[in-house]
Formats: sequence, structure tokens, C-alpha cells
Amino acid sequence: MMEVAEFKKEVRRWAEKIGVSPKEIHVRRMRRKWASCSSKGRLTFSYDLLSQPEDFRTYVIVHELLHLRYPNHGKMFRALMKVYTKLR
Ligand SMILES: [Zn+2]
Repeated sequence: MMEVAEFKKEVRRWAEKIGVSPKEIHVRRMRRKWASCSSKGRLTFSYDLLSQPEDFRTYVIVHELLHLRYPNHGKMFRALMKVYTKLR
């Protein structure tokens, strides 16, 4: 299980790579989702994500960060998802 601070650092690293700037990054217990993203740029991740394998964490992080740029799961969103989750 990784630390919250370490996880937030990971999120910020991805944000830089993608070129978005989340206003706030939060980690808390969530019942039904892995993460959420507000229209104001506030990202919330499930605490359970901290014990998930890196590939899955990356998938969820990149997904939420891309929502800061694209609100839906359109063509661009899906294309960039592919690019970033392959790129290590
Ligand atoms: Zn989504």
C-alpha cells in the first residue's frame, strides 16, 4: 500500500506529462467509484486505489486528468487514453 503523499506526487507527475493542472487532489474513501472530477478542476481518488497495481492506478489517474480537458469519452479522449497508458 502506498502513502497518500506518494500517490499525490504520482498524480502531479502525470498531470505535468499530460499538460493539465488540477486545482486540488484529494484521496478519500469512496463506495462506488475509483475517482471523480469536478468541473472546477478538483480531483478525488478512492483510498482503495493506493493498494492497486501500478497499471490500474495509472489508468484511473490518466482517465481523470484527461477529463480536465475533455468532459466526455469522445474520440480524442480515447485516443489520448491509449497514448498515455502505453507510455511509461
Ligand atoms: Zn470518465
